[in-house]
Amino acid sequence: MTQINRRTLLKGAATLPAAAALTGVASPTLAAGHTATPGAALYSAPLGRYRITALLDGIAPLGRGFFFGSEAIDPLMEQIGIGPDALPAPVSAFLLQSDERTILIDAGMGEQELLGPGFGGLIPGLAAAGVTPDDVDMVVLTHAHPDHLGGLIRGSDAVFKNAELALGEVEAGFWTDEAMMAQAPDEAKGMFQLAQTVLGAYGDRVTRIADGAEAAPGLSMMLSPGHTPGHSIVRIDGGDRQLLMIADTLASADVHTALPDVGFGFDSDPAQAAESRRRVFDMVSADKTLVAGSHIHFPGFGRILADGEAYRYVPTTWM
Ligand SMILES: [Zn+2]
Repeated sequence: MTQINRRTLLKGAATLPAAAALTGVASPTLAAGHTATPGAALYSAPLGRYRITALLDGIAPLGRGFFFGSEAIDPLMEQIGIGPDALPAPVSAFLLQSDERTILIDAGMGEQELLGPGFGGLIPGLAAAGVTPDDVDMVVLTHAHPDHLGGLIRGSDAVFKNAELALGEVEAGFWTDEAMMAQAPDEAKGMFQLAQTVLGAYGDRVTRIADGAEAAPGLSMMLSPGHTPGHSIVRIDGGDRQLLMIADTLASADVHTALPDVGFGFDSDPAQAAESRRRVFDMVSADKTLVAGSHIHFPGFGRILADGEAYRYVPTTWM
């Protein structure tokens, strides 16, 4: 059995600022003073058989303290003109619509307060797109961190009552492994509890997807571990246009393209995450693949190009 301890679960956690202490995870009730729910922010474009819409759930107050492992981080941040506490990252989800399907990729933070209040923009965003939670027939989950699955529940009830919940089988296996949870440090147990609450809320509508398999037509999940043990990226083949939703392959489009080996505080295995990051970046830069990311500058669509030993992110919009 794989041994797990603080270092193998959240190797970078020692660097996390106090505001992100994991003890704050998994408070399933709406906190008092949670008044900063953002309104609708969305961007929509055609993607072959699907229409894709980026939906902003909120902004994560990341800063210098979340990144570690290179002396080049400070000079980089100075070069691009951002202060040490000013590296905010959007938390985005993506809606895919066709004549037959209404699919959500990830569901934002919802009521979870891991990174403070101010999340929950997903539902107003869906409403602005003309979609109610009951219209959603599938949620594809890239990984089981609170900023991706928190929005799947309200209290301990499913928000998307008619949706199948698809996630990678490695990820599902990890967060439901009682032995893993027992060995996890106390401050990480909340993440296991939250993941299990969400999977419990969707019950027999949870589908575990094998590496490389399709969750829906033209929508396949590929294991890309390191951020979490079963972190997956999602290839969307719309027919005449393809897109790779790379989820948390990068936590910052500024830092992780210039310095792809830099560790991030929420990576379960920063070295493996860096390996996966370079593999994905090499793949998408060679093919000039359109990418979308959960924490790339909203709406989060662009291309990652090779730039010497590192990479460069180029945002794109299309109609
Ligand atoms: Zn994330």
